[in-house]
Amino acid sequence: MLTVEEAQQAVLASVEALPPERMPLLQAMGCVLAEALVAGIALPPFDNSAMDGYAVIAEDTRGATPGTPRALAVIEDLPAGKSPTRGIERGKAARIMTGAAVPAGADAVVIVEHTRPGPSGSAEVLVEARPGDNIRSAGEDIRAGEVALPPGQVLGPAELGLAAALGYTHVTVIRRPRVAIVTTGSELIPPGQDLPPAAIYNSNQVTLAARVLGAGAEVAQLLHVADDEGAVEGALRRCSEADLILTTGGVSVGEYDFVKAALERLGEIRFWRVLMKPGKPVAFGKVLGRPLFGLPGNPLSALVTFEILVAPALRKMAGREDCLPRTAQAALLTDVSHTPPRRDYVQALAQLTEDGYLVQPAAKRGSAMLTSAVGANCLLVIPEQSTGLRAGEQVTIILLPHRHGP
Ligand code: AMP
Ligand code: MG
Repeated sequence: MLTVEEAQQAVLASVEALPPERMPLLQAMGCVLAEALVAGIALPPFDNSAMDGYAVIAEDTRGATPGTPRALAVIEDLPAGKSPTRGIERGKAARIMTGAAVPAGADAVVIVEHTRPGPSGSAEVLVEARPGDNIRSAGEDIRAGEVALPPGQVLGPAELGLAAALGYTHVTVIRRPRVAIVTTGSELIPPGQDLPPAAIYNSNQVTLAARVLGAGAEVAQLLHVADDEGAVEGALRRCSEADLILTTGGVSVGEYDFVKAALERLGEIRFWRVLMKPGKPVAFGKVLGRPLFGLPGNPLSALVTFEILVAPALRKMAGREDCLPRTAQAALLTDVSHTPPRRDYVQALAQLTEDGYLVQPAAKRGSAMLTSAVGANCLLVIPEQSTGLRAGEQVTIILLPHRHGP
C-alpha cells in the first residue's frame, strides 16, 4: 500500500500540463498564462493628470500663497478623453480633469483645492507647485516592449485587467482540464425521482462536479452506471471527450466492485490503495490513454481523495506549479482520537485569529456522513503513527481551496 506522498508523486509523475489555447480574457480567469504577454503600448500611454485641477508651468506658481496668489489665464477645458488643442505658455493654464492628457508646455497640475476663481475667468493659484506634481508620466507603470505578465502567471482580476489595459482581448493560457464523472452503484437514484426501498440518491455526482468546477476545470461528461461489468467498461469507453476520468464506487474488494477490473482490462493500474482514512480504496491508472481516478463511493471518502490526489493532478494539468494541497499550522481546540497506521483527514473548521489558526474538527467522523463536511473549510491531518491529538497541540491542516480562494 502506498503512503499519501508516494501516491501523490505517482499521480504528479503521470500527468502533464495540457496544451495552450487562445481565449477571451474573462474565460481565462484562474488559468495559467502559457506565453509571456508583452506590453505593446506604454502605460499610461501619455502624460496625464492624477487629479482635477489646472495644468500649469510650475515656475509660474513660484511664491504663491493665499495672500499672494498667482493669477493664470485659463485657455482651455480638458475633460478626460479630450486632446489638448494648445500648448501652455507662461502665464497660462488649462483646466484639467483626472486622466486627461497634460498639454504640451505644462509641467505640473495644481489641484483644484489649491486654487480659487480669479477675475475674468482666470484661476488664482494659492500654493506653489513643483515640476511633476500630480502628473502620471507615460510609461511609469510599464514601458512598451516590457514583459507585462510572465508565462506561468495565474490570471486573476488584476492580471486580466492589465491585459485589457494593454489593449488585449485574448490571452494564450493552458486550457482547462475536461473531466468526466462516472458514478457507479445499482442502489443509486438521481435526485428528483421517487426513492424505492433500499435505494439512495446519487450525491457524489453533484459533489464532484461542483468540486471540479471549483478547481477551475470543466465537467465534460456526467455518466451513471449500475454495478455491471459491461456497463462500467462501456461508460469508460464513452469518456472520449475527457482529459481525466473520475469514477466513484466499485473500487473496494466487494463482489460488485467492477471499476478496478475495468481499469485492468482497458488500461493499467498504478495503485489502488493508499494509507489514508477515509479513502483507502482509491485507484489510479490510465484508461485508453487517459488518467483515471477510481474514488471510493462513500461521499466523504470521495471528497477527501479528491482533495489529496485529484486536485493536485488537475492543478498540474492546468499548468500550475504549486500542485500539492496548501497546508497551515493550527492550534487544535479539542482532543481527537486516532489509531495507527493510516493518515487520517478529518473535516474541520479553521478560524484565523491574531494568534494564528484555531481548528475545530467535526464531531462526526463517519465516511458516509456528508453533514460533517457542511461548512468545513479545512482537513485536519492526523499523522499515521499518532495515537491521538490533544487540545492545544499545533497540528497541520489542509486549507480547502474552494473555501479560501484558489
Ligand atoms: P462503494 O465504494 O461502491 O462500495 O460504495 C460505498 C458506499 O458509498 C455505499 O454505501 C454506497 O451506497 C455509497 N455510494 C456510492 N456511490 C455513491 C454516490 N454516487 N452517491 C452517494 N453515495 C454513494
Ligand atoms: Mg458500489
